[in-house]
Amino acid sequence: MRENNVAADALERLKEGNKIYINSTNGVGDISLERRRYTSEHGQSPYAVIVSCSDSRVMPESIFSAGIGDLFVIRVAGNVIDNIQLGSIQYATEHLGCRLVVVLGHTGCGAVSAATHQNGGYVKFITDEIKHAVGDETDAGKASILNVKQSVGKIEKLLNNADVVVKGALYHTDSGIVDFELLS
Ligand SMILES: [Zn+2]
Repeated sequence: MRENNVAADALERLKEGNKIYINSTNGVGDISLERRRYTSEHGQSPYAVIVSCSDSRVMPESIFSAGIGDLFVIRVAGNVIDNIQLGSIQYATEHLGCRLVVVLGHTGCGAVSAATHQNGGYVKFITDEIKHAVGDETDAGKASILNVKQSVGKIEKLLNNADVVVKGALYHTDSGIVDFELLS
């Protein structure tokens, strides 16, 4: 119960941070010298893990008005989950105390639309993963949501940690709004 409260508080903090971001023209997270020095000396205790796409328009710290030491961010094109990402999440939840993991997909994701084509090289590793999630879905928005759902499911199943809340969300690249009600 206590852990769930920690996750709920973390989610509220993300929502509040996003509200501030929507109407901001500059980042508002604490990146002061004092904060740098404090976290350098005392270590980090981020309040949430964010698994985000690498897309340059999706900036997790800015989107949630977060500063130094606030978020443990894993960025990979298409916000896909594999063993390497799971290792990062496990580290953050077991060693840094994070109780909330958010998979943050976004509108207009190039990786999701690339999954409808044939891809070669290392890109194929990503698009094959997305294809598995999306199936025959041709609507880009719905495909992005299915892709987030797959990553959430993988984290829940493979991390298997009842103390950790895993949530899917979708970032709108035009309005800046994060929709947290994606999977409900
Ligand atoms: Zn993307």
